[in-house]
Amino acid sequence: MRFLIWLVPVLLAAQTPRGLHPAVSELVEGVSEERVSAVMKRLGEFGSRNTNYEPGNKASREWIAEQFRSFSPRLEVHFDTHTIAKQGRIVRDLELHNVVATLPGTTQREQEIIVCAHYDSLNVIRRKEGAVAGGDTTDWVATADAPDAPGVSDNASGVALVLELARLMSQREWPKTIVFIAFSGEEQGLFGSRGYAKAAKEAKRKIVGVFNSDIIGNDYAGDGRRVTDLVHVFSGDPADSSSRALARYVQETAGRYYPAMKANTVFRSDRFGRGGDHTPFHDAGYAAIRFTTPVEHYGFQHSAGDTFEHASPAYAARVVRVNAAAVGSLALAPPAPQVMRTNSEGNATAPNLGRGKGYDAVLKWAAVEPVEEVAGYSIKLRSTTAPDWEREIFAGNVTEYKLRNYSIDDVVIGVRAVGKNGIESPVSAYTLVPRNFAASAVP
Ligand SMILES: [Zn+2]
Repeated sequence: MRFLIWLVPVLLAAQTPRGLHPAVSELVEGVSEERVSAVMKRLGEFGSRNTNYEPGNKASREWIAEQFRSFSPRLEVHFDTHTIAKQGRIVRDLELHNVVATLPGTTQREQEIIVCAHYDSLNVIRRKEGAVAGGDTTDWVATADAPDAPGVSDNASGVALVLELARLMSQREWPKTIVFIAFSGEEQGLFGSRGYAKAAKEAKRKIVGVFNSDIIGNDYAGDGRRVTDLVHVFSGDPADSSSRALARYVQETAGRYYPAMKANTVFRSDRFGRGGDHTPFHDAGYAAIRFTTPVEHYGFQHSAGDTFEHASPAYAARVVRVNAAAVGSLALAPPAPQVMRTNSEGNATAPNLGRGKGYDAVLKWAAVEPVEEVAGYSIKLRSTTAPDWEREIFAGNVTEYKLRNYSIDDVVIGVRAVGKNGIESPVSAYTLVPRNFAASAVP
C-alpha cells in the first residue's frame, strides 16, 4: 500500500501526455468531401465574384454568410465593410465586404485563431493594344466586368475549407476564440485582409494563428505533374518568427492526426511575385501562414477555365483535414509561453535567457494562463542550421530551467506549454534582438 501511494504520484508527474485528443480526431474524421465539393461547385456558379463586379460578389457573400448562420447559433456573423477609392485594379470607388463568423472561446476567449480564405475571383482580360508602361497587359476595366470568373480552385476551394471547419467546429465549444473569414479584394491587392489586419493590430487583438488557404482545389499542373498527398505551407522570415513556429506546429499536428498527407513547410513568405491574405497579418507581427497546392495550374488560373470540372474536391478535402488537425489542436492547447522580455509597447527587448554563473543555459518564461489547464512545459532544442526541433526535455510545471554546461550561443532553445489535456502549444523560441552598439557596454 505504501508502495502504491508512492508510485501513483510519480507516474503522474513523469507522464508527458502525447495521445491523440478525441475532439481533434473527431474533427479530422468529420471532414466531408461531399460538403467541400458542394461548396466549390456552388461558388463556381455565381458567374463572377470579382470585387469590382457587385452582382456576383454580393450574391456570393450573402450565400457565404447564410451558410455560416445555418451551421450553429454559436457563430456570430457579420460583414466587415471597407470603403475603397478607385486605384490600380479597383476600377471604381466601392465598398468591400469581408464575411466574418466568430465562435467565442471559453477559458482563453482573448486568444484568437483566424481561419480564412478570399472569396473574390478573377478572370484576367488582356489588352488588345498591348502592354502599358510597366509591362502590364491586363485590361483591368474589362477584367472587372467579365461576367465569367468561376474561380473554383482560386479560391472557392479555400472558402470551402473555411466553411467546413466552421460547420464542424461550431458544434462544440473550444477554449480559444475562432474567427472564420472570407476576404474580398485579394485579387486587387489584399484590400480586405489589409484593412482587417490593420484594425486588429490597432485594437491590440491577441491573434495567435492565421490559417490562410488559397488555391487548394487542384492536384495537377498544366505540365501534367500531379501531387495528391502534399500541401505547401508558406511562412515568412525570420527563422524563428511566430509564423514559422506555426508552420512547424501544422507539420507536427497534421503528421500526428492525418499522416496520409504531408504538410510541407516552405520557409518563404509566399511564391515568387505572388501574394496572399496571410501577409498583412505576418507584417503586423501575427503568426500567419498560407496553404497552397504544389501544382498550381497556370492555364486555368485567373481565367474562365478555373471551373469545378478542372478542380479536385478530394484533394481540397485532404487539405481541410490537415487544417482540422492543426486548428483543433491549437484551439485546445494552452497559450504559448512568453519567453522574451517586452517593453510597454509589447515589443521584444531581450530573451529571458542567461548563462548562469558563466557556462550554463538558464531559461525563464512566464507561466501561461489559465494555470489550472497546464501540466507543465517542454524545452525544445535544435542546431541553428536545423529546420526543425531535434530534442525535447519535459521540464515539469516550472517557469525556470537550467541546462548545466550548455552553451546558449550555438543552438536554438524554445519552450512550449503542455496542457493537462495532453495538447501542446506552439514553441516560443529565445531569439536575438538587434543591439544598439552605441549604447552597449560590452560589444
Ligand atoms: Zn487566390
